[in-house]
Amino acid sequence: MVYDVVVIGAGAAGLMCAAQAGYSGRRVLVVDHANKPGKKILMSGGGRCNFTNLDTTPQHFYSSNPYFCISALKRYRPEHFVSLVERHGVEYVEKAPGQLFCENSAKEIVRVLLTECEWAGVKVSLSTSISKVERVGDSMRLTSSMGSIDAGTVVVATGGLSIPTMGATGFGYEIARQFGLEILPTRPGLVPFTLSDSWKERAAILSGVSVPCEVSCNGRRFNEPMLFTHRGLSGPSMLQISSVWEPGDAIDINLLPSEEAADALRYARRTAPKRQLSTWLGERFPKRFAQALLEWYPDANLANPLAEYSNDALDSWAQRLNRWQLKPSGTEGWRTAEVTMGGVSTETISSKTFEVKDLPQLRFIGEVLDVTGELGGYNFQWAWASGVACGQSC
Ligand code: FAD
Repeated sequence: MVYDVVVIGAGAAGLMCAAQAGYSGRRVLVVDHANKPGKKILMSGGGRCNFTNLDTTPQHFYSSNPYFCISALKRYRPEHFVSLVERHGVEYVEKAPGQLFCENSAKEIVRVLLTECEWAGVKVSLSTSISKVERVGDSMRLTSSMGSIDAGTVVVATGGLSIPTMGATGFGYEIARQFGLEILPTRPGLVPFTLSDSWKERAAILSGVSVPCEVSCNGRRFNEPMLFTHRGLSGPSMLQISSVWEPGDAIDINLLPSEEAADALRYARRTAPKRQLSTWLGERFPKRFAQALLEWYPDANLANPLAEYSNDALDSWAQRLNRWQLKPSGTEGWRTAEVTMGGVSTETISSKTFEVKDLPQLRFIGEVLDVTGELGGYNFQWAWASGVACGQSC
């Protein structure tokens, strides 16, 4: 079998790249070891796929080379993908500012990609495993479960390591290593935290309770809700901060980001001295969380009115409300992580064509590269943008 382009991985980046290469007149084959294309797309955004973010800028991505993503993101913007899904009749909603989700189902995004591949004459071969990738003269040869495949260009679009049960493997990194590319250390990102001992029990009791807050760690800050779970902490703010968290770090949580709690408590003591702390907390937090706070910090007679609280007592409450700290014991790991931090170093990859600088027959796109987006549709926008840039230049 001979193809101009063979794409390994029928995920978001791979299918997008294949369609673009097909439209350029190339003979294109996509291979995937899974029995279905786009499995991660199907499970994304709670089954409705947050397929882009209208506010996509390089600042929303992590990479050891923050400039690498600029070129592709500039050339293929969120509005390009929006007009693609509109052409295919996909209805969508802006669930949070800038975050576009399918109105009905993530299946529609997979349908769009497969239809584009079909129109572009791309062949998609599922349940196909690749055991060897080698350079033969000026082209590449793959040994696969369907036999030997010769390709002018091989595009590696095998994604990251998260959710192995969905087909994630480290195969892309193996190919990169084989051809002498550097792999930056990988770790789970956008992943829930686990807590230990008493905090684990406390979180479990509050499982399902969501609290608006601002979390910060290692210089990053996110003002979004957090969610208590049976194992620890999740929700948008915790998923976001997990991408910069290192084992052993404490997370700073401001439970009242729009209020200076010390001033607010003193004001309440002055203007409503008979009010109880529980009432004051109950006006600001979900009931179960307010009650839990009072149980966790039983340093006051709850029946006492605010008038009987000393400045010191109010200040310790202010401290825990504006500057609460928790130290996770770890994360839920690859089992539930949405993305992989790190990956194939971009140092020897062209940001225009995604080819390996001394080996243009080999290219890497999507999440397998050391480019990872924040939560909110950025990761798919990266998959589309890198796929288009690579596919059009194949
Ligand atoms: P993938 O989409 O992971 O595709 C890689 C493909 O390669 C897969 O089909 C896989 O089967 C195949 N493959 C792997 N190894 C081999 C091998 N050895 N041989 C052959 N084929 C192989 N991002 C967003 O922007 N918005 C969201 O709403 C969102 N929600 C998410 C929810 C979950 C639960 C998860 C896990 C991720 C979510 N993401 C989201 C992240 C997003 O899914 C990924 O960033 C994106 O899919 C990466 O695209 P990719 O094409 O690089 O890799």
